[in-house]
Amino acid sequence: MPATTAQSEIDQRLVAALRQRGMRVTSQRLVIHRVLCCRAQHMTAEQVLGAISGSLPGVSLPTVYATLELLEQLGLARRLATGTGAVMFDSRTEQHAHTVCRQCGITADLDGTPTPTRALARASDSGFAPDHAQVVIWGLCAQCAAQSQAA
Ligand SMILES: [Zn+2]
Ligand SMILES: [Zn+2]
Repeated sequence: MPATTAQSEIDQRLVAALRQRGMRVTSQRLVIHRVLCCRAQHMTAEQVLGAISGSLPGVSLPTVYATLELLEQLGLARRLATGTGAVMFDSRTEQHAHTVCRQCGITADLDGTPTPTRALARASDSGFAPDHAQVVIWGLCAQCAAQSQAA
């Protein structure tokens, strides 16, 4: 895979974040970060493992999970509570809303919706120290909705 400008920018973000904390830059961390940024924006650890097994054989699921958690700690990914049992990681870290399909599990960004700013402010007022909030809308994606109507 030739290194494109976009990819090296993605790598640089991770390298800078790791170096800042005195952590090692490993090919494993680079590849997992790349996959989350470029392949599909919302991925479970299992999906990431499936995507990297070609380039990084022998990496285990717990290692992938630990790396995704590290990316979360570095502020390069966010954990998404999808409510479907799967823990998703999102490479887009600014506030945004999601739709989650109960049937196929597809998770998509929903832009143009209000972010839960007031809910966060209310939590702060009550003495809680919130770090972020999520807006998740559950239901059926367009494809699953069409199938359920056809059936
Ligand atoms: Zn669906
Ligand atoms: Zn998202």
